[in-house]
Amino acid sequence: MPQSLLRVLRGGLTPAVVRPLARRASAVVAEPLWKPCTVTGRSAEQQHGHWCWAAGAVAALALAESQRRQSLSCSSLKRVALGKADEFQESATREVAIGPEGDQTTVLVHRYADKYYVTSEQASSTKQTSHPARDPSKDGTATYKVEVVDGVVFADIPSELADGAGKRKKGQRAMAKRDPKDSRVFALIGGGAASLAAAETLRQEGFGGRILMITKEKHLPYDRTVFSKDFDASPSDVGIRPADWYQKYDIEILHEATVTKLDAKGQEVAYKIGTGKEQTLAYDRVLVASGGLPRKLFCPGATLKGIHTLRTPEDAAEISKYAKKGQKMIVVGGSFIGMEIASTLRQKGCDVAVIAMETVPFERVLGKKVGAAFARLLRTEGVQWYGSAQVRHFRGNDVVNGVELEDGEVLPADLVVVGAGVLPNTRFVSGTSLDKNGGIVVGPLLNSEACPTLFAAGDVCTYPSVRTGTNVRIEHWDVATQQGRVAARNMLGKYQPFTALPLFWSCLFKKNLRFAGYAPDVLDRVIIEGDLSGMEFVSYYTEDDEVRAVATINKDPVSIACAELMRRNKMPKVSELMLGIVNADILLQRLQDLEAESA
Ligand SMILES: Cc1cc2nc3c(=O)[nH]c(=O)nc-3n(C[C@H](O)[C@H](O)[C@H](O)COP(=O)(O)OP(=O)(O)OC[C@H]3O[C@@H](n4cnc5c(N)ncnc54)[C@H](O)[C@@H]3O)c2cc1C
Repeated sequence: MPQSLLRVLRGGLTPAVVRPLARRASAVVAEPLWKPCTVTGRSAEQQHGHWCWAAGAVAALALAESQRRQSLSCSSLKRVALGKADEFQESATREVAIGPEGDQTTVLVHRYADKYYVTSEQASSTKQTSHPARDPSKDGTATYKVEVVDGVVFADIPSELADGAGKRKKGQRAMAKRDPKDSRVFALIGGGAASLAAAETLRQEGFGGRILMITKEKHLPYDRTVFSKDFDASPSDVGIRPADWYQKYDIEILHEATVTKLDAKGQEVAYKIGTGKEQTLAYDRVLVASGGLPRKLFCPGATLKGIHTLRTPEDAAEISKYAKKGQKMIVVGGSFIGMEIASTLRQKGCDVAVIAMETVPFERVLGKKVGAAFARLLRTEGVQWYGSAQVRHFRGNDVVNGVELEDGEVLPADLVVVGAGVLPNTRFVSGTSLDKNGGIVVGPLLNSEACPTLFAAGDVCTYPSVRTGTNVRIEHWDVATQQGRVAARNMLGKYQPFTALPLFWSCLFKKNLRFAGYAPDVLDRVIIEGDLSGMEFVSYYTEDDEVRAVATINKDPVSIACAELMRRNKMPKVSELMLGIVNADILLQRLQDLEAESA
């Protein structure tokens, strides 16, 4: 195996994976995509599980993806000296200020195998904690052409950045402002991932009309995914954009405003702010991005105090109050949210038991074989797993103190957290078709067939899978943001079908799980490569002779390579994987080769 690949597999994604691409463009802005990378200046623990922008890699994958690629054609580049070559540490990343004094504009300089890579994005802006945290997608990331002359590293950087105009920092795409002559009103329902991505894209696409985001929350949009990994995070620390950003681009936000009715045919939204009177808003286009409502249990005792769900920072703060050493915590639900909650509680020293209908954790998303590996991990970490189990009733007077299972066993509880999935938050919607769970049924352009001015994105969106044509609804952060962007373009009449491959990440007991693709029906047809018991492996989910999805544990570069190869239809045949003709190392190499060919 080539040494560079060995290094990649051992050390995470490095510029080596994407070297041919990083070299290619002098200034390309790629749309955001989650990337694992190692950032210098943090402890190993802080680095662990941290997702941030490995800008070269981001650019590499996104370059190939025309749908998601946004090129920034730079009429004017300025050659900027970034420092002496030997002052950049090997395999490290350093932020370098490039604007005039007092300006905050910076680039990242990565040195790897004596080559230099210069990219636009900040490594991270979220609160650094010992818990795995990730950045939500923000600006696209640019890579710049680099040259070392007489021992000094130079990069060709767009003049507007290099001159510190501060208008578009860190590779952010240009954004229009409100044009008073443009009387169009676009309403965005919800203040989460999908809605923010849509608002930003509308301005990036030059929309000058009114953008009104109506959200129940008092916070500005934030990274919701942090809260199952860190109950104590604050929404402002994980906010995606600062308050002045919304002002600058005239994105109006109505906080603590609940949409009570959406009349899709009449193109009108009714909402209430706090306990105020109902108000109405006529719109030209509406995006429903109201996310999910955690499912509740309806067994006896379900309304006792001490039974929680987790969706908002307030929910997390409430759970955190009880998450103390020795407290007896019961988690109901064996999928992502439940398992992440169990992991976080356990790492806080709680006694944790998980009750789930599945036989093993993640059974419905990763299948039995991989799930069994997670069951072992739970055992090792001291979490009790009650599989194939159901809650008969919650015990307690006013406050829950135990959970009785269908088989009569009673588990003592100081607190219960139910992580049993979500239902689309769409009760207020009328005039368009909803699926049996309440998902808004849309076509490939993410709008309703009956009311084409109504769009949906994120957890509420039931859309046709590009592979099978059947309707799916996927609750992943990345899907929500990608759909927000695509919906925004289609709200402006651009024709962009939604075709992105679903991507998901999670982190349990410092094991990074990545999942690319969609394969709920073929979870038993899995090929495992690597060490299942050592929790370092790749699992390929297959149908006939095709790979439909790939999950990796602690092999992030492989999941990223597979996602890209799947998108390009370049994954190997199942027979090749089974015979060992192709493996993860070869897939990494295959992506490099493809990129080199097209460079
Ligand atoms: C704790 C947690 C951890 C997660 N971790 C991961 C992870 O690690 N990886 C991953 O890929 N995904 C993860 N997810 C899933 C991911 O966060 C969601 O898929 C994503 O947030 C969906 O985005 P959205 O914009 O559709 O909805 P949301 O982000 O939920 O936003 C919906 C917004 O609509 C508002 N709203 C709802 N109803 C109304 C109404 N009637 N009127 C006005 N406003 C309304 C809400 O207040 C909210 O602001 C996690 C989810 C949770 C809850």
